[in-house]
Amino acid sequence: MKIVILGPPGSGKGTYASRISERLGIPHISTGDLLREEIRNQTETGKRIESIMNKGDLVPDEVVISILKNRISKDDCSNGFILDGFPRTIEQAKKLEEITSIDVVIFLDVPDWVIIKRLTSRRVCEKCGAIYNLLTNPPKQEELCDKCRGRLVQREDDKEEVIRERLKIYKEKTELIIRYYKDKGLLKTVEWKKEDIPEEEQDMPLSLMLEKIMSLLNA
Ligand code: ADP
Ligand code: ZN
Repeated sequence: MKIVILGPPGSGKGTYASRISERLGIPHISTGDLLREEIRNQTETGKRIESIMNKGDLVPDEVVISILKNRISKDDCSNGFILDGFPRTIEQAKKLEEITSIDVVIFLDVPDWVIIKRLTSRRVCEKCGAIYNLLTNPPKQEELCDKCRGRLVQREDDKEEVIRERLKIYKEKTELIIRYYKDKGLLKTVEWKKEDIPEEEQDMPLSLMLEKIMSLLNA
């Protein structure tokens, strides 16, 4: 099965993708990871895209497509894959169609309030950079890093106004992609309904959402 997973930043998309990958025995392909690997290995491509990625801009389509095409031609993709971080534009969605045929697109429809709550709870260690989440992965001692006792702080881009802005930009871009896949009949939306989720799991209903996704995939 060839799957694309779409969802807002902070939706847990990467986590769900890797769980689905384990369950179905297909690789989890994150274009962000593939691109970072190029940089780590200091390949020609890596050198070319380093400054673009550091700025947080999108890497040119032909670069991402060529790396992706190469990745999905490997043996471990013969039974499918789950694609995370791609497509990011309609142009990429169209190019994707030229190199493979996607079976299903999972859209994690997580409401803004959940994302804001989760992302504003993120803290990072001033000294070693370790990441915590006050809701889902709290440090043993409040405000202090478990590893190095450094002070935990909130990153500028985890502040509520910044997150709201990021969500706005995300929506403008993704709505088109969602529409595109809906029209093709490939879209399956996983709704996040507060009333479906037990109180103690509201912050990260991992297993519940995962079961919903698996049943949508009929797997
Ligand atoms: P984030 O959720 O922070 O954007 P990703 O790991 O998905 O993290 O992506 C990191 C960076 O990799 C992006 O900012 C962008 O520069 C590049 N990137 C990843 N996927 C794509 C893509 N499909 N098209 C263009 N650039 C991409
Ligand atoms: Zn630390």
